[in-house]
Amino acid sequence: MFDAVPDMAAKRAELTPEALAFRDGRDWSFAAVDRAAGGIAAGLTQAGLQEGDRLAILCHNAVAFFLALFACQKTGIVLCPLNWRQPAPELLDTLAPVGARAILHDAAFADLAAEIAEAAGLARYAFEGDLDDWQSLPPRSEPQTVPADRPWYLLFTSGTTGRPKAVIQTARMAWANAVSVMQSVSMTAADRSVNFLPLFHTAGINLYTLPLFLAGGSSTVLPKFEAEALLQLCRDGAVTQFFGVPAIYQAFSLSDLVDDVDWAGIRCGCGGAPLPDPLIRFFAARGARVLNGYGMTETGPMGTLMDPAAAEAKIGSVGKPQMMNEIRLAGVAPGAAGTGEIQFRGPNVTPGYYRNDAATRAVFTEDGWLKTGDVGRRDADGYLYVVDRIKDMFISGGENVYPAEVERVLHAHPAVLEAAVVGVPDARWGETGAAFLIARPGEALDTDALRAWCRARLAAYKVPARFRVVEDLPRTAAGKVRKPDLKEMLDDA
Ligand code: ATP
Ligand code: MG
Repeated sequence: MFDAVPDMAAKRAELTPEALAFRDGRDWSFAAVDRAAGGIAAGLTQAGLQEGDRLAILCHNAVAFFLALFACQKTGIVLCPLNWRQPAPELLDTLAPVGARAILHDAAFADLAAEIAEAAGLARYAFEGDLDDWQSLPPRSEPQTVPADRPWYLLFTSGTTGRPKAVIQTARMAWANAVSVMQSVSMTAADRSVNFLPLFHTAGINLYTLPLFLAGGSSTVLPKFEAEALLQLCRDGAVTQFFGVPAIYQAFSLSDLVDDVDWAGIRCGCGGAPLPDPLIRFFAARGARVLNGYGMTETGPMGTLMDPAAAEAKIGSVGKPQMMNEIRLAGVAPGAAGTGEIQFRGPNVTPGYYRNDAATRAVFTEDGWLKTGDVGRRDADGYLYVVDRIKDMFISGGENVYPAEVERVLHAHPAVLEAAVVGVPDARWGETGAAFLIARPGEALDTDALRAWCRARLAAYKVPARFRVVEDLPRTAAGKVRKPDLKEMLDDA
């Protein structure tokens, strides 16, 4: 399907050159973005980087990141965003299989980038000084389309279940994701969004920033997530739609500013981890529909999104497959209701993990579908529910327990702010559940009462054997709970 896709910056500059694309300290028109990206493309080429070379990047969210991203789309240089939360030894470990030639960085990460450049023998370029100067170079003359299957950037998975994997992102994937998102979120050139999710994960780039860019709308870029700054933008009418993760909606719900926002005027998307029903209801009571979506780095990422019309009737669902992909559930007849591993096919799906053929082979079925490692349930109306990760399931007394189901029951308790459940070895039952809980501000958690709450709502083998009240949960940069770390916390106890 399509050998070539649009050079995104060039296409938009052709369609609406003067319209606003980005806002940070200054306003960027689409023409300005394309011109600057063209100059950076020339600068990178002059610096000796060629199609296929990997260019690492270490920065907070900034328009300059997108300029570098578009420059890479033009040249075929492969951008490799790094997680700035990782210390140098971890970053070096992450980068080793990628084999980057150079690293680009902002002022905040100059020291970290210098350390990595030195240790890995990379050329080093700064936003201030190099990238800024390149922007005014005469752009190379570029075609208006790029090869669809050419790797554009590499993204690491969140590392929720283990070591992050480098997923190849092609121009085709980004384009297919944008088409799906533009359609399902009804994006237009009049829409305004905000970019704040970290750019080293797929959501920071692809939800909703690149789709909205292609639709001709504008994004305000914030250096990083900060609840108050974001809520102020929402309050001041600067945002018509945005995409967050559950931890962000949780933070909003605790802020004094949450009731200053006219939520009915903002379309809210959410994904990346289970979205507790009470949080959906909290925002619904304020006029907002938080639409739950499902996907993964390997799917570009948008795989499904709840549609507003069914949001209340199908609470807990992640919606239906998007325009550009198909879903099947392993072992379930096409379109039928049932439960099985969720599998994807479509132009939004990655060709594989970078330089890791064994991992790539392991993630595809023989007939070419991507295995997500997640269990899904489809209801009679075709709506999908994410049951849990296969890896997180545990077996207690011979029965399968999906921690997400137990967490849902705990989240429904009025004194519980957050809950995470893991399976741990048990001499009698094989494994039993251990629940970690954070109390709502001002509430105390009584573990006997919580046990009774679970007993009244769950089969006995699903009721956690251990409850532990904690102040915080170990999380990835994407805000997901790192369950392997929870298990270690129990080992240490
Ligand atoms: P790793 O693959 O490194 O362990 P990860 O799977 O968390 O990390 P991502 O690609 O960022 O990395 O996340 C995709 C996963 O997030 C999905 O496979 C699924 O398990 C989970 N997920 C995404 N959206 C939802 C959702 N709406 N509800 C429940 N889980 C979700
Ligand atoms: Mg994964």
